[in-house]
Amino acid sequence: MTIAKSLLSLQDTDQALALRRREYREVEEELKSEGGLPELRDSCEKIRVRELEAKVETARLESDLATLKTQVGELETRLYGGAITNVRELTAIETEHSAVRRNLAQIEESIAPAEVAAEHVHQQFEDLTSKLADKEKLWESRRVELGQTKTKVGTEFNRMLELRNAEASQIPEEDLARYNRLFRSNRGIAVVRVDRGVCQGCAVRLPVGELTRLRNSDGPIPCSCGRALLTE
Ligand SMILES: [Zn+2]
Repeated sequence: MTIAKSLLSLQDTDQALALRRREYREVEEELKSEGGLPELRDSCEKIRVRELEAKVETARLESDLATLKTQVGELETRLYGGAITNVRELTAIETEHSAVRRNLAQIEESIAPAEVAAEHVHQQFEDLTSKLADKEKLWESRRVELGQTKTKVGTEFNRMLELRNAEASQIPEEDLARYNRLFRSNRGIAVVRVDRGVCQGCAVRLPVGELTRLRNSDGPIPCSCGRALLTE
């Protein structure tokens, strides 16, 4: 095999290796992301806390309501029971009675919205919990699938890497070094063909002198674009 052909074959292998490597990384990243489950669990936990807070708030309002109702009852018993005849005392009780009634009315007004809010958060929590359960189930099979792909791609990669090294060992050191440098700097393209006198890398027509030089050379020659080595 000529050096040019060996380099082209090596390039095919290297490009395939790069694809496998990318595929492997994508699989790894997806595995790491756990299909967005951590974020969803986080949201679920936040909603759970909000639901608790809403429950506590409703319970507090209900307990206040009960206390105030008792107070109103007690004050009314004293007001209308007839046991108190002192006007000043009666006036004081009346004032307290109005104040407690006002508080009671306020609490009564707040309870319904608080219950609606609590119900809303509860619904959100339920929805999110079932969404999380669905996603966890889906992820479980996806995770297995990804694990298998990872192994497969990894094995394939290693096999190709061995092939690559075997191929590379057949190429003179200097050509290989030049190829490696170009392959890295030119995003995976180091050797390009010249088709009807045109460099397939940069689409520039080669001067006749260069074409002659290429034909007489036993290996690839650098293109004037500096990005690639040329072969026919
Ligand atoms: Zn070129």
